[in-house]
Amino acid sequence: MKQQIYLDYNASAPLHPDSLRIIRTIFESENGHGAYNASSVHHYGRQGRKFVEDARRQVANLINADTNQVIFNSGATEGNNTVLHHFVNQYPQERILISAAEHPSVAQVLPHFKNLEVIPLNKDGMINEKALEQLCENAQGVSLISCMYASNETGTIQDINTLAQIAHQNGALFHCDATQAAGRIPVDMKKSGIDFLTLSSHKIGGPQGVGALALGLCGQTPTLILGGGQEKSARAGTENVAGIAGFGAAANAALNNLDEYQNLETLRSGLEQKLKNLSPDIVIHGENTPRTVNTSFFSLPGSNAQSLLMALDLDGIAISNGSACSSGSVKPSETLKAMGLNEKITTSALRLSMGWATKESDIDAFLTAWNKIQARIDKKR
Ligand code: PMP
Repeated sequence: MKQQIYLDYNASAPLHPDSLRIIRTIFESENGHGAYNASSVHHYGRQGRKFVEDARRQVANLINADTNQVIFNSGATEGNNTVLHHFVNQYPQERILISAAEHPSVAQVLPHFKNLEVIPLNKDGMINEKALEQLCENAQGVSLISCMYASNETGTIQDINTLAQIAHQNGALFHCDATQAAGRIPVDMKKSGIDFLTLSSHKIGGPQGVGALALGLCGQTPTLILGGGQEKSARAGTENVAGIAGFGAAANAALNNLDEYQNLETLRSGLEQKLKNLSPDIVIHGENTPRTVNTSFFSLPGSNAQSLLMALDLDGIAISNGSACSSGSVKPSETLKAMGLNEKITTSALRLSMGWATKESDIDAFLTAWNKIQARIDKKR
């Protein structure tokens, strides 16, 4: 098989060795299948509980929260759904404001809720704070404002502290999808004023199907899944002990490596400079905003993202467009549309995202493949 180069960490990061180690320990343990029920009182249950509580401390550390603020769940999609459904059910007469940059697990949750309004983006991808303040002025109250921390597509980092402040000044609570921010930039539940924060394990080198909802100081506990009393009744269902432990280990590794992680910026700036040299028409999105250092989102106007992805895949390069839907097909980026960009740009966007195992040679391999694509385009002209 051709050597494969993986540059799609924003879709899912490879499992970190620390995460793999603890998952193996659990699954290879004396009762074989890792199925400690962490609520059982016996020896095995207590062992399972210890894995879960160690992970809770590790995840809390990653976001500077107390352990009792962290509720484990199945991932960021569940976390986002939990918060939005809570607010619709509790405050049906009030509005919910979400930014135009939100992931479908926020944007598509309440298609029929008539009091949902969208906060526009500026051309550079930052949330338009003036427009948000104007939306808040309307006499009909706002119960919740939901803005992602860092974009899964552009990597753009929003000014979360200011957005949380605007929410509170207007009597609303603030939800932040930090799926693409945690482990990449410092996230601080204590300083930010965030009331609800969603996290996903598999974006930071933990396993898929596990995540967390972190609660701020507002005193509300959104709950979606009812049943047993797990997670202090905030999220029913037998804990996914191995998954949670793997998430904790990945969170711990990400926190310990946060400074070193910023070195990816050197790789990215080299990449973007070379891309501009090879393809002078290229448009790099969010280039002048604060961005997570692992992400580069760019368009080659007039080309087709799907064809580019396939050509790169034939050369063993795995990247994506920003918004691959579940069928694997490529849709124009909603974020780019919200930034006012035309169809030639929204349909030709590609996202390259790096992470803990990315090496300079991976970027070189990508550039070699890109060079071939550009040569073919030039030949056709
Ligand atoms: N929010 C953002 C910003 C994401 O990038 C993703 C994953 N693509 C999700 C939510 C959903 O996360 P999960 O896969 O854990 O459900």
